[in-house]
Amino acid sequence: MPSPATLSVDLGALARNFHALQALTGAPVHPVVKADGYGLGAPACATRLMAEGARTFFVARAAEGQALRAALGAEPTIYVLDGCHEGAAAELKAADLRPVLNQPRQIDAWRQAGGGACGLQIDTGMNRLGFRPEDAPETFDGVSLVMSHLACADEPAQPMNRRQRDLFAAAAQRYPGAIRSFANSGGCFLGPDFAFDAVRPGICLYGGGPEGRTDDRIAPVATLWAEVLQVREVPAGESVGYSRGFRADAPVRVATVAAGYADGLLRSYSPRGAAWVAGQTRPLLGRVSMDVCAVDVTGLDVAVGDRVELFGPNRRLDDAAAAAGTIAYELLTSITPRVPRAYVD
Ligand SMILES: *Cc1c(COP(=O)(O)O)cnc(C)c1O
Repeated sequence: MPSPATLSVDLGALARNFHALQALTGAPVHPVVKADGYGLGAPACATRLMAEGARTFFVARAAEGQALRAALGAEPTIYVLDGCHEGAAAELKAADLRPVLNQPRQIDAWRQAGGGACGLQIDTGMNRLGFRPEDAPETFDGVSLVMSHLACADEPAQPMNRRQRDLFAAAAQRYPGAIRSFANSGGCFLGPDFAFDAVRPGICLYGGGPEGRTDDRIAPVATLWAEVLQVREVPAGESVGYSRGFRADAPVRVATVAAGYADGLLRSYSPRGAAWVAGQTRPLLGRVSMDVCAVDVTGLDVAVGDRVELFGPNRRLDDAAAAAGTIAYELLTSITPRVPRAYVD
């Protein structure tokens, strides 16, 4: 059944971003496909990235790893950033998942279950997950990857980036033979000495810029479009939507569009949101409601069934996120299951 709102995913653009990041860093890209591939669909995205040469993937949760293993088959290496929760070792092993261990109790849980290939996370300043460098364990059988995560990779001038990098380089020396992975998307753009043995980008694969704004080096991947359900002429003095969120000083033509917050079109798009319609960027009017939003199409030739782009190649993801007061990551991962994902190339 056709749907009036669709998230269209350009797998060719995903592939181009993958190769662009490899060319830029000179390091293999180990894609991060957590949160269902940032909302775009992990099975389809990872399958395409595998076809482009990716052999190692990162997810956040064990369950995401299980689903990815089912989709990709036995070949690729899959790391679980959460690590190994109490009692989870057997499940991880059954799906051949490698936990990224982040504290002593996880090491114990993993080794008591027989151990095997795993990663280690060193916390170089984010204070989120991982061993402080001074507490980093002696190496042990199975450590195949050592990693750390940047707190401010989207701010190239932030001095913390290099401090973290140097702490990581020193700590990683304790794990000879382990793959060293440090850079997320932003980190890929910080220079060659941030790349180490493998990079770990997410958002830039999916079309977000490394500094939270549109960047020509990254191709747009996801397009959220929705159909016009009705077009109406609103006379001066009337209002549009809940709470009279928009009041017409002059007559306006309004398109009611099939995307609302139940689709992931954040309510915080009001009042700065915009959409691309009939070749122009036009403001959203009033409140976003559950199933629809209103777009100003005054003077435009717009009819029922026409498509409006909420973000995509013409209304860029980072700009849409900024208008909603958030970041591209949250915009993408907020798109709900009601919106079918359609894959194009
Ligand atoms: C999410 C995540 C990444 C990917 O980050 P991006 O900014 O999307 O490139 C890399 N490493 C870790 C530990 C993460 O949690």
